[in-house]
Parts: sequence; C-alpha cells; structure tokens
Amino acid sequence: MIIDGKKTAAELREGLKKKVAELKSTYNAVPGLTVILVGDDPASKIYVKNKEKFAKEVGMNSEVIRYPADIEEKKLLNKINELNKNDKTSGILVQLPLPKHIDKRKVIETIDHTKDVDGFHPMNVGNLSSGYSSSIPCTPLGCSLLLKKVEKNLSGKHAIVIGRSNLNGKPMTQLLLKENCTVTITHSKTKDLKAECLRADIIIAAVGIPKLVKGDWVKKGAIVIDVGINKTDSGIVGDVDFDQVSKVAKAITPVPGGVGPMTIACLLRNTVECFKKAHYK
Ligand code: NAP
Repeated sequence: MIIDGKKTAAELREGLKKKVAELKSTYNAVPGLTVILVGDDPASKIYVKNKEKFAKEVGMNSEVIRYPADIEEKKLLNKINELNKNDKTSGILVQLPLPKHIDKRKVIETIDHTKDVDGFHPMNVGNLSSGYSSSIPCTPLGCSLLLKKVEKNLSGKHAIVIGRSNLNGKPMTQLLLKENCTVTITHSKTKDLKAECLRADIIIAAVGIPKLVKGDWVKKGAIVIDVGINKTDSGIVGDVDFDQVSKVAKAITPVPGGVGPMTIACLLRNTVECFKKAHYK
C-alpha cells in the first residue's frame, strides 16, 4: 500500500474548511494565522507561500509579515508580543531557520504558547511529553495521522524513529508512546541501525540522508513513514530507498506526496485548535 499523503492532506483541509465555516457562524470570527518570514531563504519563501495559499483555501485569515535578514532581534520580539495580544491572531509561526544574529530559542519562547502552532514552545513540548493536551509539531502530527490510515490500533507495536531532532524525532517518539508503541529512538551514534530497523513493525525515518533505509533493513509487513526531503541530482528523494522498501513493506509513504503535504494541513489544524481553545474559555 502506498500511503497517499496528498489525498489525506486534501481530505484534512476539506474537513477544516467545514469547521472554519461552522466557527464563523458561531463566533462571527475565523481563525487567523500569522507567519513571520525573516530574510529571503528560497525554500522558506516557498513554504510560506504555500502556507498562505492553503490557509486562505480553508477560509482562515492569513497574514505574512516579511522582514529583511538584518532585522534587529528586539524588533522581531516586539512584533511577536504585539501579535500575542491581538485577538485576530489565533496562531503565530516564525519560519525557521532564522539569521544567525537572532536567538531562535528567545523567539520560540516569546510566542504565547496558546498561539504556538508549531508546537515548539517549551510549554507545549512539556505538555506533549507529559501526555497533556498541547500543540503538536506539524510534521510528526502528519506522520501519526498517516500511520492511523494504515492501522487504527498501534498498541504494542515496536516502532523505531530514526533521528532525534526537536522538530521531528523527539515529538514523533512522544506520539508513538501515546499510542502505546514500544519505541526505539536512534541517531547518528546508534551502533547497528540496520539491526534496529529489522526488529521494527513501524519505521519513521527523519534523518536527511537520501535513501538511507534499504530493502534488507525492513521486516516484511512493516509500515514505513519517510519524513526525509533530500535534493539530489535525480530529484527530490526521501530517507528511504522507495523502490527496494516498497517490495517488503506493508505500507509506505512516497517522497514527494507522502508526509510533505500533511505538514501544512496539520499547521492549519493546529491554528483551528488554537482558535477553539481561545473561544471556548
Ligand atoms: P536534523 O535536525 O538534521 O536531524 C537529523 C537527525 O538524524 C539527527 O538526530 C541525527 O543524529 C540523525 N542522523 C544523522 N545521521 C544519521 C545516521 N547515519 N543514522 C541515524 N541517524 C542519523 O533533521 P530534521 O530537521 O529532523 O529533518 C530530517 C529530514 O526531514 C530532512 O530530510 C528534512 O528535510 C526533512 N523534513 C521534512 C519535513 C516534511 O514536511 N516532510 C519537515 C521537516 C523536515 P544526531 O542527533 O546524533 O546528530
């Protein structure tokens, strides 16, 4: 089974469009997403453009604030504080990476955690690892929704997460634990990654190395979720060797068209959740 992330993301956005319309008729207001883009990193510009496009498509308010790369940190933090107080802004996202002179941690911690649609604020990270309600980082949330498409009950499954970044690997581990999986988290110092993978019912690859996971690393019938987006001479490829692994896996996400489209859909979902929490108080 090829897990169709494009289709699943479109379905998710369709559901959100209906939800936004309902919220509009109930509260006479719609969720608002504000994205701050600092500098002109080409990849970031594309991501932000897509975020804006899809936010508008589901009927949300969407605003992009653009600053030059040499913006003073203080000015950026002041803007975030202003947005924290603005009722029209349900969610705030500062597009990463930031220029070196800006302290990423300070920026993340300045965003009100109830408007932190990326789920990076320490309050949300802590809530997620304590099993409490929180904003969940968009890519791991997308992975877990795709996993659920294949198997509703993940309880007792052995999952391996390759990569331990704050963005992907760590929150993914928490989500799998929440589903009662037994989780092995691996990284660049892991001794025998192939042997670890071969024991797993679920493999989540979030590494950034093209086609790292080979066909003979995967147990027959495993579910494989490929987070990687790697530019190569032959185009964009994932962290999994799709041609080899799709022959042994029960289900696999393609790259592109797997996890990627889910990330923005989950960002919109998080924005709706922030709006709901602010209005249900
Ligand atoms: P990252 O911050 O660079 O983290 C990579 C992780 O992989 C680190 O924990 C690193 O270990 C580990 N690693 C490196 N080499 C390894 C090896 N040989 N064996 C096992 N683990 C190894 O990357 P990231 O931000 O999580 O992104 C990972 C990939 O996902 C990238 O290709 C990125 O482009 C992609 N991505 C996709 C989406 C999407 O929407 N689909 C979103 C975000 C990122 P150490 O901790 O020991 O260094």
